[in-house]
Amino acid sequence: MEQPADVDVLICGAGASGLTLAIDLARRGVAFRIIEKLPAPFAGSRGKGIQPRSQEVFEDLGIIDRLFALGGTYPPQREYLSDGSFADSVLMEVSDPNPAEPFNQPLMIPQFVTEQVLRDRLAEFGHQVEYGCELTGLEQGADDVTARLTTTAQERVIRARYLVGADGGRSFVRSVLGVGFPGKTLGVRALVADVTLEGLSTDVWHRFGEGDMERQIAICPLAGTNLFQIQAPVPLEGPVGVSAADLDVMIADRTGRSDVRIGIVGWASVYSMNARLADRYRVERIFLVGDAAHTHPPTGGQGLNTSVQDAYNLGWKLAAVLNGAPVSLLDSYEEERRPIAAGILGLSTGLLTQMQQGVMRRGREVHQLDLSYAGGSLAAADCDSGLTPKAGDRAPDAELTGAAGQGRRLFDLFAGPHWTLLRYGSVVPEVSARQGLRIHGIGPGCELRDNGGQFQRFYGVKTGDCVLVRPDGYIGLIAASARISDIEDYLAKVGLSQ
Ligand SMILES: Cc1cc2nc3c(=O)[nH]c(=O)nc-3n(C[C@H](O)[C@H](O)[C@H](O)COP(=O)(O)OP(=O)(O)OC[C@H]3O[C@@H](n4cnc5c(N)ncnc54)[C@H](O)[C@@H]3O)c2cc1C
Repeated sequence: MEQPADVDVLICGAGASGLTLAIDLARRGVAFRIIEKLPAPFAGSRGKGIQPRSQEVFEDLGIIDRLFALGGTYPPQREYLSDGSFADSVLMEVSDPNPAEPFNQPLMIPQFVTEQVLRDRLAEFGHQVEYGCELTGLEQGADDVTARLTTTAQERVIRARYLVGADGGRSFVRSVLGVGFPGKTLGVRALVADVTLEGLSTDVWHRFGEGDMERQIAICPLAGTNLFQIQAPVPLEGPVGVSAADLDVMIADRTGRSDVRIGIVGWASVYSMNARLADRYRVERIFLVGDAAHTHPPTGGQGLNTSVQDAYNLGWKLAAVLNGAPVSLLDSYEEERRPIAAGILGLSTGLLTQMQQGVMRRGREVHQLDLSYAGGSLAAADCDSGLTPKAGDRAPDAELTGAAGQGRRLFDLFAGPHWTLLRYGSVVPEVSARQGLRIHGIGPGCELRDNGGQFQRFYGVKTGDCVLVRPDGYIGLIAASARISDIEDYLAKVGLSQ
């Protein structure tokens, strides 16, 4: 007789992607373990930019206000010129406040703080990362994955129904699976270091030697800390010193200033930039998320964000399938996320080329709000073509009023692990209530009023239209009221049949 698995999901790696997946599975009641080979949390600032779309994800996961309280906005950049003068300019373009897009600029927060907030949220669900526990072997069977876990004290074998490799750019899981990781090394090697220093203000991002890859150095105050993050290209070969004395010399050489002095080096790393994309994101019961599936140059602050959103895309699908949804739902993970990563690799390498030419300005293209799964297998063909947004697009926010007179945001209705069906201008949608689906009417006499007309405008709906929103905040389907059978068919496909 078949033995039950020890756990439903084993997450290998507790970086940003593994932790996001863990929270999403925890809030869905999935039995999982999350292991991390490091003995303690990683301490570097690395991915310090949280883009607006990831902010929306973190709002859904219940941590956005904590992150904003601990981080801050990006300061202007100060470019020092060779004649000793400097010019200040805006680095991050900020779009106008817009109720459809509540977050309009990147949040700066060091990655080690973001990950601490994620771990705290995970703890609120009663889960902890197992530190000092390394995945050292795996084998895939028809019904489960056998994983060898090694700690300093012991070696154990466990069986999981699914395994997720959230184990970073040098992914062990990817290499055991033999999944190719083609791409290129970008011919740029760089130093990154978190330091305390004196001699520079904390109100601007100091940039020296822009456009000169031998002399360039950028020193950014890390919001919410007393640290600065130093980033500087270094020679492709040879040792690079990262002690306080070494960095003093590098700064003096590249800035011509002797008044900038390093205090403590909290963390430092020298790395070569790569742009690579895994050939596959899934092999049967094993998935790759985050840097294990794609690595980017840091330009544009996309890597951590893409990683978090991989996990957010996979979490609800794994939970649904474990709960009885058709297994084919899992095919949509690679189908949706791999093209997104391919596009983002193009964006971040393009921004790297611009930076090498001394151009640094970031706008909407890095916000990740326009990413879409339109045209994919989970984006039902619209019955009424020409509607914007389309099925597969991000579902916009909107300000509504509850029948009790309180203000309500659409994102408040979406928050949580459920699907949401919105029907415009009708009291009771004909789709019946069921577990995992929240149904709301919007319009006169309904539980929600579209007093400002935002919902109608942002979704382009007509009276009687229905909008089905996925648990990860993308539109699954927009249908006219006469097409209730389309909605039922769609719900059956994702495991929500009556
Ligand atoms: C200098 C620099 C600047 C960056 N700037 C930005 C930025 O501004 N914005 C942005 O979005 N991104 C940025 N990034 C990228 C960002 O840091 C990564 O994309 C992000 O960390 C990926 O998260 P992850 O969870 O997929 O992988 P990781 O953070 O690499 O986590 C993987 C984890 O898996 C663990 N692990 C590995 N193998 C095993 C095993 N066999 N068993 C158990 N555990 C294992 C590792 O120890 C590690 O903790 C930057 C990166 C660098 C280097």
